[in-house]
Amino acid sequence: MERYDAVVVGGGVSGAAFAWQCARAGKKVLLLEREPRLGGCLHSQRTSAGYWYELGAHTCYNSYAGFIELLEGAGLKGRLLPRAKVPFALLKDGQLHPLTPGGVLKLLDLWELARSLPAAFTAKKDGQTMYGYYSRLFGRRNYDRVMGPLFSAVPSQSADPIPADMLFKKRSRRKDVLRSFTLDGGLQTVVDAAARTAGVEVATGAPARTVEKTPAGWAVVTEDGRRFEAPVLALATPPSAAAALLQAAQPELAGKLASIKMSGIETVGVVVEAARLKVPPVAGIVPIDDAFFSAVSRDTVPDPRLRGFAFHFRPQGLPLEQKLERIARVLGVARADLSEVVEKRGLMPSPVLGHEQVVADIDRLLAGGTLAITGNYFGGLAIEDCVQRSKEEFGRVGKA
Ligand SMILES: Cc1cc2nc3c(=O)[nH]c(=O)nc-3n(C[C@H](O)[C@H](O)[C@H](O)COP(=O)(O)OP(=O)(O)OC[C@H]3O[C@@H](n4cnc5c(N)ncnc54)[C@H](O)[C@@H]3O)c2cc1C
Repeated sequence: MERYDAVVVGGGVSGAAFAWQCARAGKKVLLLEREPRLGGCLHSQRTSAGYWYELGAHTCYNSYAGFIELLEGAGLKGRLLPRAKVPFALLKDGQLHPLTPGGVLKLLDLWELARSLPAAFTAKKDGQTMYGYYSRLFGRRNYDRVMGPLFSAVPSQSADPIPADMLFKKRSRRKDVLRSFTLDGGLQTVVDAAARTAGVEVATGAPARTVEKTPAGWAVVTEDGRRFEAPVLALATPPSAAAALLQAAQPELAGKLASIKMSGIETVGVVVEAARLKVPPVAGIVPIDDAFFSAVSRDTVPDPRLRGFAFHFRPQGLPLEQKLERIARVLGVARADLSEVVEKRGLMPSPVLGHEQVVADIDRLLAGGTLAITGNYFGGLAIEDCVQRSKEEFGRVGKA
């Protein structure tokens, strides 16, 4: 049995941010990750030739104050890269349309837009779904045909039922930082660097199996039978995994976590020689009514020789070869031109109206204890929401 000041389960950005807060406060912390690599949804795929592209999150903004604090603390401020200004493209009727404001306007029914726009002065996001709020602003047909698919590309699932105030947020900007950025080597670099902070010990390929309350705090037992104890425990896994871990120790809390719906994402990554592609540089591709929700490219950090793409497919279990055929057709290349093929299955929360109450119940059940729960299902789904939640949770339990 090994003792720490804190054990963190889940090595995505939420867990890494919590572990970094602990280490910064002089604590000895263990970060347990189920997979062989850290990062979770921050997954920068690196090829043997040294090329990288993102299978998960791709963009950060200078409004991500907590994330910037984390990467500065991890010594990475000098490694920020600007994202080249290339537009997303909308795939409609087999054609790619640049998603500039003018390009989107061309796709909208302007009469319907003109009739709906007065609602912009009175519509409120509170208590509204994405569909309820934005179909009022743009008109229902415009929403169904254009805006809905665009919004759904953000969380890689239907955006329609998500509370409107959870997806897009106004935050104040750090003027000394690039407006939108990535990092040399990709965003996973931040998680890897945070996990190298003195005081953080990492165990990858180490799924937590059970969590127990002890007189001195918490014990975590991994699948291979190792036992780790600490006064503070942070769960930074998807809510379904946190619910399974807490089933015996905190059944009411486990029930609240289990009530949060999740959506699967089936991602396929490919690399293509730039000379083979006719598609102009794009930040990504958003289709209307297709087998995939969105594709994200590395064209924002151009490489003279290679172009990398991650296609985020609907969780329909389409065989890999069919996905690759679709990718080849969208990119206008032969199947044989797709190299470095990689598959990833991801999970994202699918919050619905009333989610705020679930979060309030979770916080009520956590109050006064030394169990922290963090992730992308509290303030919102973005990286910054994860880091802020981890910071708040550390502030609550970190003194134990
Ligand atoms: C395709 C995609 C694109 C995105 N793009 C952006 C973007 O551009 N900008 C942005 O701000 N946000 C983006 N997001 C959202 C953001 O990346 C995620 O919300 C965030 O990274 C989630 O971090 P997390 O640590 O809370 O969860 P996760 O990244 O899911 O990490 C949870 C970790 O817990 C581990 N785990 C689970 N069970 C156990 C267990 N029993 N024991 C040990 N470990 C366990 C998992 O393996 C995983 O590594 C995107 C998300 C996706 C999927």
